[in-house]
Amino acid sequence: MATLKSKANPLEPHFFDDVSQFFDHAAQFTSHSHGLLDQIKVCNSVYRFRFPIRRGDNIEVVDAWRVEHSHHKSPTKGGIRYSEMVNEDEVMALAALMTYKCAIVNVPFGGAKGGIKINPKNYSVAELETITRRYTVELIKKNFIGPGIDVPAPDYGTGEREMSWIADTYLTMNPGQLDALGSVTGKPISLHGIDGRRAATGRGVAIAIRECVDIAEDMEELGFSTGLEGKRVIVQGLGNVGYHTAKVLIEFGATIVGICEYDGALYNPDGMDPDEIIEHRKNNGTILGFKKAQKEFRLPAEGLEQDCDILVPAALENQITEENVGRIKAKIIAEGANGPTTPGAEAIFVEKGGIIIPDMYCNAGGVTVSYFEWLKNLSHVAFGRMDKRYEELANLNLVNTVESITGQSLSAAQRKTIIKGASELELVNSGLEDTMIRSYHEIREILKGNRKIDTLRTAAFVSSIDKIAVSYQNMGIWP
Ligand code: NAD
Repeated sequence: MATLKSKANPLEPHFFDDVSQFFDHAAQFTSHSHGLLDQIKVCNSVYRFRFPIRRGDNIEVVDAWRVEHSHHKSPTKGGIRYSEMVNEDEVMALAALMTYKCAIVNVPFGGAKGGIKINPKNYSVAELETITRRYTVELIKKNFIGPGIDVPAPDYGTGEREMSWIADTYLTMNPGQLDALGSVTGKPISLHGIDGRRAATGRGVAIAIRECVDIAEDMEELGFSTGLEGKRVIVQGLGNVGYHTAKVLIEFGATIVGICEYDGALYNPDGMDPDEIIEHRKNNGTILGFKKAQKEFRLPAEGLEQDCDILVPAALENQITEENVGRIKAKIIAEGANGPTTPGAEAIFVEKGGIIIPDMYCNAGGVTVSYFEWLKNLSHVAFGRMDKRYEELANLNLVNTVESITGQSLSAAQRKTIIKGASELELVNSGLEDTMIRSYHEIREILKGNRKIDTLRTAAFVSSIDKIAVSYQNMGIWP
């Protein structure tokens, strides 16, 4: 059996290589031909481009990419990342992960990803708008964006604001195209985004963790009790994914004992409130100096190594490596970020008995709710709009009938709970929860069903490879 190890020279870009290694390892447990496996693994289209922007009296050339990894389903789908560290290898790896992620959670998209090599903190809002709109125009020119072609979304360094600029540029260039708003997801609600998308990835991560810790057999092996109550969590990255994961985990009963950011880390075994840390960062420009932390570390990586039960890396790839994995105290790593654990580090962690909830499942809540947003844009109607009132009237009739038959009256609070029709947010969160719960057990069953399958990640890859292979076979292209 192939063993997993990290690339010899960690300074060379190796993220796509890592993803391919995980893929090859899992492919051993499938029965597909080499040709089909190759087709699933490779990136179908890699578009690398450069464009100029004016900065003061100078012209700066910006590097950008869009990668469509797999067209076994259309459109392709994946976030756009703004980071100084973006490179072609990274965008290819992230696009590939999107393909596998969508297959795992049964979202009918191929995988894609985009990247612009800038540090957004170094640019004014006007400059970021220029860059985003120009990037979108370049994608339109090459047919790399559209509601039925390729649909971007937010990722590291981007959010609703950037998605609005993309939507507006696409609409401007495609006047009269009825489904144009389906060309990008993660938009603000005022621009036909969907309630719940902002928190979706983090909420999905928290649900994934809850599912994991609710299984008595697995927790016994870790020496843990079941449930999230009292579980101590460290989160790396207090951005979109990290913040919402922390918030929902607290809602589920966990304690956030550590927060790590790019400029330092905080720790308090009694727990900390992410909102208070965000407020402190807003006022001081850093999380350091937060009074309610018992310890702080100027070296962010030290924060990952503090005492806890669960570690949620929710910043960037390559954070848990063969070098530091031995010092990680958590027994569960829940990958909010894409690619935070290298293959070599995973092998060591799992050998010691730890559980890794893999990125391709763990952070799939974002694309799941993006799918709901895309459906909303194509149907041109908000979820719940047609049936909320009808449902409430039907419930009211039922309650009135039951009360008149039994002669018993419900309290005002009971009536309200029973009668209420579902809002868009409730429907979205319910669809998200159902997806995350079902997918976790699907992967775990694959793991438990074959003793040779070593990790949840391998099981997740097996699940997605099998589903993608079926798509190709259904197209009649492959034997
Ligand atoms: P974000 O830009 O909102 O937040 C990232 C946070 O990480 C920032 O606060 C940043 O300061 C911090 N950070 C940067 N370097 C760090 C370091 N070395 N140590 C600690 N913190 C550091 O980005 P995001 O959207 O939350 O994305 C985070 C990760 O989650 C990425 O890997 C992304 O691909 C993945 N992801 C995001 C989504 C989504 O919906 N946004 C969906 C799936 C996966």
